Formats: sequence, C-alpha cells, structure tokens
Amino acid sequence: MSDLFQASLSELMRQLDRRACSAEEVVSDLLARMESSRDRLNAYVSIDAENALQQARAVDTARAAGKQGALLGLPIAVKDVLNVKDQPCHCASRILEGYRAPYDATAIARLREAGAVFVGRTNMDEFAMGSTNENSAFGPVRNPWNADYVPGGSSGGSAAAVAGGAAIAALGTDTGGSIRQPASFCGCVGLKPSYGRVSRYGLTAFASSLDQIGPMTRTVEDACLLLGVMAGRDPMDATSMDADVPDYAATLTGDLKGMRLGLPKDYFSDGMDSEVEQAVRIAVDRCAGLGAEIVEVALPHTEYAIATYYIIATAEASANLARFDGVRYGAREQGADPLDMYGKTRAARFGPEVKRRILLGTYVLSSGYYDAYYLRAQKVRTLIRRDFESVFKQCDALLTPVAPTTAYRLGEKTNDPIRMYLGDIYTVTANLAGICGLSVPCGFSEAGLPIGLQVLGPAFGEDAILRVGHAYEQATDWHQRRPAL
Ligand code: GLN
Repeated sequence: MSDLFQASLSELMRQLDRRACSAEEVVSDLLARMESSRDRLNAYVSIDAENALQQARAVDTARAAGKQGALLGLPIAVKDVLNVKDQPCHCASRILEGYRAPYDATAIARLREAGAVFVGRTNMDEFAMGSTNENSAFGPVRNPWNADYVPGGSSGGSAAAVAGGAAIAALGTDTGGSIRQPASFCGCVGLKPSYGRVSRYGLTAFASSLDQIGPMTRTVEDACLLLGVMAGRDPMDATSMDADVPDYAATLTGDLKGMRLGLPKDYFSDGMDSEVEQAVRIAVDRCAGLGAEIVEVALPHTEYAIATYYIIATAEASANLARFDGVRYGAREQGADPLDMYGKTRAARFGPEVKRRILLGTYVLSSGYYDAYYLRAQKVRTLIRRDFESVFKQCDALLTPVAPTTAYRLGEKTNDPIRMYLGDIYTVTANLAGICGLSVPCGFSEAGLPIGLQVLGPAFGEDAILRVGHAYEQATDWHQRRPAL
C-alpha cells in the first residue's frame, strides 16, 4: 500500500496483521512526511525519529514472535503538555526549557502498553491557553488547508498533523474546546471524554476541574480505539472514575434508529457564520435521514458560559502555574535573592496570554472579589450543568456547531483577546458540565476551510456520541478529503 501516512489507525492495523507492511515501514513513511511538511505546518515541536524507528523495529520482532496488542506498531503524536518519560515537555513555553519528563503520564503508559509508537510532540498554545496556536514559544502552526489561516487551538499542532498527513492520530487536551475546535478548523475527528473518564496523571494541569485528555483522529472508529485503551480508573488520579469502559467499537451500529437528538436553540445564535449554520443544519437533516428523531431543546444559561469559564479557568490556572518559579522545573533566571529570582524567571519566560490569565485568575480569587466573581461563577456553573441534566432526560445526544466560524486568518484576533474568547461559546459548556463532546467534519466553507459538527452527550455517554458521529461519518465523505500539501 502506498501513502501509508494517509491511512487510519484501523486500516494500518489490518495491514500490519496481514503482514502487508511492517511497523518500520509505517513509521518511516510517516517520519518522511513529518519532515517534508515541517516548514509548511510547524505542527511538531520535536520529532523523535530515532526512538520511533527503534520502537517500530522492536514491534516487528515482537509481532513475528506472536505478540498482540490493540495498537501494536501504530504511531501516535503527543501534545507537548503530556509527560512521556525522558522526553522534553515544554507545554510550548520558554519557562519549561530544559525540562525532561521523569515518568510517563498514565494515558501514555496505557498506549505504550498496547504497543503504540511515539513519533513526536505536537505544537500548542502555551500551557494550552488559546484558540489559534499563536501563543506558542515555537511559533504558530499553519492550517493544512490554507497556510494563511490558523489551525485552531490549543491542540492545533495535533489537529494540523492529523489532517495534514503528518500524524495518523494524536493526543490533545480539552479544557474549554482545545480538542474539538482545532479538529473542526482542520477537518479531523476530536473527542473530549467526560470529566473523570481518562486519568490526567502526568498531564500538566491548566484548569484541573475542566481538563481532559482525548484522541484526535481521522475516523470515529480510531477515536474509539484510543479511548478504549486510555479510559478507566487510575489510582494516581483521584478524579478518574471507576466506571465501566464499554467496548466502544461495538456500539457503532452505522445508523441512528431509535435515537433522539436534541437541537439546542441557544446554540444557533447571532454571530454564527451563515455557512457554518447551513452546514450544521444539513448535517442535522442527514442524521434525521439515518433514523434519528430530532427535538428542539433549551440550554438557557448558555449566554453566561464564556464569563463563567474565563473566571474558573483563570482562577485554577493561577494556582496551577504557581509551581513554575525557576526552582523545580525547567529554566531559571538569575536574581539577587529567591523572590527576585522567581519574579525574573516568570517575567522573562511566560508569554503575554499566560500572564494575562494568571493576573485575571489572581484577581478573581483575591479577597473582596472572590464572592463577586469566583463564587458566583461556581453557582452559574451548577446552573449550566443542570441545563444539560434536564435536556439529557429528553434526548440521547445533542447536535450543535463546534465554533461560530471557520478558522481565522493568522493575526486576525491576536490583538483582541475578548473576541477570541467569544469563539469558545459552544465548547466551554461541556467542560463546565463535565459531559463528553465529539467534533466530526461536516463540510467546507466557500473559502475551502473545514466546518465541524459537535455531538454532545451525557457524562460517561461516549458510546452514544461515538455512535452518532460514526453513523454520520459513514453517510458522508467529508472525513476522506485531504488537503493538497
Ligand atoms: N480556547 C480556550 C482557552 O483559551 C480553551 C483552551 C483549552 O481547551 N485548553 O482557554
């Protein structure tokens, strides 16, 4: 088979099982593509060619000896925010220069155990704060469909790599949309699991009550595969749930018979591009054609979601990022005394967006403002969660846009952070409520940029949204389109 780098994980697995190709061939074909697209995409902050080839050769030997594994020999790219033993983990920040991970994150350890080969670390917004990948110490990532446009963020490197042929599949993280929005902007599949579904041990925390790790892939089937390997209770993360992990692939029926899908009227609001609205509405009709009953529902607290998210996320970030002070992790600037050293290190090495968030977060937590901002945001968060609890009594999953627009031009929003934040309106709610969400390709704009359909499901209802995403995907060919690079 030529163009191994364009295949899905499941296709490659079948090839490997039939011995139509070796893991070494798969990995070296991909590495060549990662190199040749490097200048165009800037999707990777580092490529680990030597190690990856070594792992692939070891897999080929193990396969010949009869070893099996759900991912045996399949290459995975990892967002630069997850610890992979002995590799750098910069979180695309200059403050973590020189840091090497002393251990594997649990999600990584589980993928490794299943036979995955780690090929490199993907670019991102610094500490996962952003929606365009322009906040990276390693420079912006470019959208594979048009180099003048952003790939979305913060997992922009992962999305651009998967869509642009420079990764078969990648891990992303999603605190307020960072898996689903770049998946939508680049035209790949992105799954944010429910809060507690995947262990965050070894993930550099941004906002601990919102963060989740999830797969970014070319097909829904591949998302099932990776989620199945990573999901489940981990004693190292007290927030990981001891809930059954279904055989996700077995839930993909290819139809939507008997399902009720909700259309939240609050998610079709002013400010949405008409092209996005049209593509999503056509996708909804498609789902109806596949047997689903479509019902209109209300999520009345949606209008408070952005404010609530940007209070809670920044508050938690200000606490989580306090540990980066030049003492234990990464880089250090010289100072006259320890306090001076902390200040100089943080001033010199955090980027402007990270500083803005730390300042905002410190402000909303400070005495005198805590009740007015942080405490109130927590109360509104409860109302948003209740909105979802009540709609999921009426339907199995929701269909919505992922973002109000397609990808922005590079530089278009960098001087206006508030306008940038507003683009997160349809994604932050899932993190605030702890529910799961999936982005699948559902069309292109006139300008040739991808559009995503979001499928939201109840907490621990990944099987339902994967079934919806898969049935829709099988009925369309959006996921098979590849940019000409
Ligand atoms: N764009 C959102 C933010 O800037 C989401 C980020 C994320 O999910 N990590 O906070």
